[in-house]
Amino acid sequence: MRVDLHTHSTASDGTDNPADLPRLAKQAGLDGFALTDHDTTAGLAPAAAAAKQLGLAFVPGIELSIVADPFAEASPLAEDGPTDMGSIHLLGYHVRSDSEALMIIETKLRRARETRNPQIIEKLAGLGVRLDYQDVLDLALGSDEGRPGEHAVGRPHIAQLMVERGYVKSMHEAFAQYLGPGGAAYVPRELPTADKAIAAIHSAGGVAVLAHPVHLGLSAADLEHHVARLTDLGLDGIETQHSDHEPADTKRLTALAEQFDLLTTGGSDYHGSRKAIALGSVVAPGNTLERLEEAAAQYA
Ligand code: AMP
Ligand code: FE
Ligand code: FE
Ligand code: ZN
Repeated sequence: MRVDLHTHSTASDGTDNPADLPRLAKQAGLDGFALTDHDTTAGLAPAAAAAKQLGLAFVPGIELSIVADPFAEASPLAEDGPTDMGSIHLLGYHVRSDSEALMIIETKLRRARETRNPQIIEKLAGLGVRLDYQDVLDLALGSDEGRPGEHAVGRPHIAQLMVERGYVKSMHEAFAQYLGPGGAAYVPRELPTADKAIAAIHSAGGVAVLAHPVHLGLSAADLEHHVARLTDLGLDGIETQHSDHEPADTKRLTALAEQFDLLTTGGSDYHGSRKAIALGSVVAPGNTLERLEEAAAQYA
C-alpha cells in the first residue's frame, strides 16, 4: 500500500479543497492518504466522503502545534524555540473530528491565531509592509468547504500576500526576514503543552506522532531527550519519512523509534501549490496503515 500520511488542504495552509485531494491522490498513484491540516479537523468530512467514493484508504488526521519545550508544564507563551517553526508539530491519526477534547484545543489554537495574525499585520505595517488583514482572510478562506469558520489562517497566507504584493521574492524570504522566530514581525502565539495535546488526541481516539523531527534542529542527544519525555507523556510514533528528511535522518529516526518502541509513519507534507512538494512523493513504511489502526484501537 502506497500511502502519503501528511497533507494539507485549504482548511489550513494547503491550496487544494479537501474534497479534491482524494482524486489528486489517486492520480498520484496512491492507495490512500491522511489529511493532517494544521490545528483543525474542518476538512476531514469532505475529504473522507470523496475518498470513500474513489475507494481510497483515508486516515482522518490533524497536525497540532505545541510548545517547543515538551518539559513545559504551564502554558506559557511560546518562547522562540530551537526551531524555525517556534513549536513542535504533533500529528494525530484516526482522530474523531467531533471529539470535545480536540475541539477545545482547536478552538484555543484558532483564537490564538485570531489574536496573533492582526498583530503580525500591525508589525509589518510598522516596517513599511502594508497589508489589509481582510485580504489575508479572503485569500485563506476563499474555499467554503468543510466548516469554513474553523479554518486555520496563519503566516503562510500572510507570506503569500507579501509575495503577491512584491514585498518579498519568496515565502522563504517572508519567513526568514519577517515572519519566523527572529524575523522583524515575529509574534509568538499561545500554544498547548505536549501533555494536553497528546491527551486530547488520545481522547479523540487518535494516535500521537512526532512530526518531521529534523525541523526541531536538535542534536542527537537532545532529540533523544525530547522523544523520551514525549513518550512518557504518551507519544505513540515518530514521522520517520518526510520531504525534509535525508535517508540518513530516516535511518537514525527509525532506530530511535525502535529504541522507544514507537511506531513509524511518513508522508510528503504536501501543501498544494504553496510548496514545491508533490503529493505522494513520500510514502509511509509498508505496513503503517495496519499498525496505526492497531494503535488507535487502544484509544477508541
Ligand atoms: P503558522 O501556522 O502561522 O504558525 O505558520 C506555520 C506554517 O508556515 C508551517 O506549518 C509551514 O507550513 C509554514 N512555514 C514555516 N516556515 C516556513 C518557511 N521558511 N517557508 C515556507 N513556509 C514556512
Ligand atoms: Fe503548513
Ligand atoms: Fe509541520
Ligand atoms: Zn504539515
